[in-house]
This record gives sequence, C-alpha cells and structure tokens, in this order.
Amino acid sequence: MIRFSLFGFICLVIGCTSPSYDTIIRGATVYDGNVNDGIIADVGIRSDTIAFIGDLSNAKSKTIVDAKGLVLAPGFIDTHSHHGGGLEEDPSGLAVVSQGVTTIIVGQDGGSEWPLKKYFQSLIDHPVAVNVGSYSGHNTIRDLVVGTDFKRKSTQAEIDSMILLLHEDMKAGALGLSTGLEYDPGIYSAKDEVLQLSKVLPAYQGRYISHLRSEDRYFWDALQEIITIGKEVKIPVQISHFKLAMRGLWGKADSALLLLDHARNEGVNITADLYPYTYWSSTIRVLFPDRNFTDEKEAAFILKEVTSAEGIILSKYEPNPDYNGKSLAEIAALEKRTPEKMLIELIKRLDECEKKGDDCGGSIVATSMDENDVKKLMQWKYTNFCSDGNSGGRHPRGFGAFTRILSHYVREEKTFSIPEAIFKMTGLAADQVGIKKRGRIAIGHYADLVLFNEQLVRDEATVQNPHQVSKGIERVWVNGQVVWADGKTTNQRSGKVIYR
Ligand SMILES: [Zn+2]
Repeated sequence: MIRFSLFGFICLVIGCTSPSYDTIIRGATVYDGNVNDGIIADVGIRSDTIAFIGDLSNAKSKTIVDAKGLVLAPGFIDTHSHHGGGLEEDPSGLAVVSQGVTTIIVGQDGGSEWPLKKYFQSLIDHPVAVNVGSYSGHNTIRDLVVGTDFKRKSTQAEIDSMILLLHEDMKAGALGLSTGLEYDPGIYSAKDEVLQLSKVLPAYQGRYISHLRSEDRYFWDALQEIITIGKEVKIPVQISHFKLAMRGLWGKADSALLLLDHARNEGVNITADLYPYTYWSSTIRVLFPDRNFTDEKEAAFILKEVTSAEGIILSKYEPNPDYNGKSLAEIAALEKRTPEKMLIELIKRLDECEKKGDDCGGSIVATSMDENDVKKLMQWKYTNFCSDGNSGGRHPRGFGAFTRILSHYVREEKTFSIPEAIFKMTGLAADQVGIKKRGRIAIGHYADLVLFNEQLVRDEATVQNPHQVSKGIERVWVNGQVVWADGKTTNQRSGKVIYR
C-alpha cells in the first residue's frame, strides 16, 4: 500500500492555502469501489460530496475522524431490498445502516408503492437515513387493473391500461419494471404481457429486474424468459436473488452461467444479484407453483426435492403464532401428522384465516440451496450482492447480508478478496441498477461511505435471533452526514430519493 501524496506534493510546489472541509476521514485504507487495491489516504467531505482524496495533513476541518487501521469503502448499495416499510416505522434505519448500507432499491418482486410520484414525495417530506430508489412493480399495476379476478391471462385492453400506469411511474423516476412471477397475480400473466410492458422501458432508458417465474421446477424456462426480454427489448435485465433452489438443480451453476455468458456474448445485458445464504424466505404458498395446495403428491415432492420438513421454519403464521420459529418437522410431530399432511393443513388454516378477512401471514424460511452453487453464482462477474431483507422478518439477511459477505465469504471462506467483495456491494451494484455518482469513492461523488474494521466485521443475525446487529461497522455516512456511529443510529435522516 502506498501513501497517496501527489496532491501534497503539488501544494508544496505551487503553494496552497490550507483548504477546509466539513469532515476529514484520516488515514483509512480506502477501497474505491472498483476492484483496485486499497490505498492509505485521507478523504475530505464538503457538504454532501467527496471533495478530496489524498494527503490532507495540512487541511482544516470541523470534524476529523481518525481512521487508521480501518477500511473506508463506498456505502453498500442494496439492489434488492424490502426495508422500505421498516424505514417508515424507523427512519433511522437500524437494520440497514448497521450493516453499512447507504442506498436501498425497493419496489422489488413486482410489488411497489403506488403511485411512485407520491411515494417519492413522501420520502422528501419525511426523509429517512438512507437513499431510496424504486422500480415500478408489475404485480402492483396488474392488481390495480385486473383486481380480484386475477387468476387468468389479461386482455389486451387490460395490458394497455397497465402500460399507461407504468408510463406514469417511469415519468416519476422509477428505475424500471420489476416482476415477481412466482407470486400472485403475476404468476398468471402470459409471457407476452410482461414483454409488452417491458417495451415501455427503452424510451426512458429503464431496466427490467425479475424474481423469475421459477427458481426450481421451471427454472430453465424462466431463465429463457428473462433472456428473451433482454434480447427483444434491448434493455438491461437483472435476475433477482439468483439461486438454484431445488435438489435437481444443485451442481448446475456452471450450466446456468454458461447460458448467461452465451446470452451476454450475443449482446444481451443480463446481470444478477444474490444474497449470501443457502435458505430463502417467502410465502408458504410459493412452494406450490401450480397452486395445487391440497395435492399430497406435490407436498411429498416439495419436501423431498425443493426443501425438507426440517428445512422449513415458520416465520410469521398468524393462525397459530406459537408455531413461529418452529420447523415443519417439529409442528408435524406436535400434531401427530405426516409432514406432507401438515404442510397441506397449514395452508388450509391460512385460507380459513384469510376468509375471515384477517391479515394472516404465512411466511417461511426454507433451506433449498447448496453452498457450492451459491459460491459459484456469487463469483460470476456480473453478480452483485443484495439483502432481499427487511427489518422485521425472521431471515437474518435483513440485518446481516452485507456483513456476512465480509466475514464469511471474504475472511473465512476466502471466496473473494476484499476489493472484489466491496466492488460487488458498491460499484457493480450501482452500475447494475443504473445509479450515478454513488457506489464509488471518487471526487464529485456523493459522500456515502462506510468505515469498518476488516478483522472484526461480522454478521450476528441468525434465524433464531434475526435482529441482532452486526459487529465491526464503525461509522456510516449518507450524503456527508453520519447515520451510524458508536454502535448506534444517529438522528440524521440525510437520505435522498434516487431518480432514474
Ligand atoms: Zn423475490
């Protein structure tokens, strides 16, 4: 590592009056958010912007942070986040800033606030600690147009109405269109509906991001669908939370990546994001893509091929909150049923609960992936990291995804060097959702920064204790203001709306 002192040298030659800054972060090892090695340098912040990188020994500043021995990186960018709701309740963003995240991208899996113009205005009126950008959600606009009679293909007139709604969100500054094609109501849409909506995007230089139509049984077909959209519409397309979530797909990461590289060679701008765990969290119904919830053979297939009775943990189950935190195997033993019958029964009770008009929950954490595949998919050149988390769920990713990358995959497993991992959380993430002037430490970029201890940083959240705060994140700045320091959130709500 070299001491970066070119500017000091120039001042020595031409003479400089000592400049002043709002904050100087002194002597950290600075990783710039590309894949470059770290340099020891001072970083000067003026207002919300990075004003200087180099030797600031003679400069004045209102605040000086001694950062010797620590790493300074661009603030992490969560390209697939569900923290939006949690930020309304807690604008200081504990779950987000405590893991070093400074920008979240919401409106994922086809679900977004409607209309985005109003949502963005509410973020301006009631700011939060981090920057927020959003996609426009296909399921949200399909629901607005098609309503409760959604278990069918849309008519052309309905698609035309959806197109108008998408234009409205794109004009408001949405990054693009998101789909959640394993969820209601998007699962009932024809491929042509999604393709037609995607054709709205090029005029806005918008993007497409997708929770694929299948991450297990119909995975290859689902992968082809997103490639086709990228090819025909000529827009950047991103696979959300990339995974191979079924025993039959395990070991096939190379084949999947070959397919994507082939598409890229043909000019398709396809990329992916991924959260660093072998288990996911979603609704219990997502286990049944054909919606045959009473089919015992299907339940047996799910428990053998997709996950297991031990691998399913209920995270929010209103019909019987005592079951939260218990596995399907445990619940089946308690009720003296087979796991297959118990799975069917749990969904039946959920239906009954919902018929009463209650909000009944029904989410699970399920182990479905293989660690070797996770590593291969995350090492793909075009995979950036995300959390897919929120501040209330049982999946630990909501509090620990980014710190887990640094502890588990950098320090313990050595899957990445530290600059590679940082690039995938910052510069690459910014590029793959189309954010400018963030995700890199560069003069003129916004001062979104995270200072951490490379040796101590680690996630503490687990499935049983999902809201434990990470260790080793020393300080976090969003637009030049400190939002996390001394193990606590501050009252700064300096986040901005990210418009496309
Ligand atoms: Zn998703």
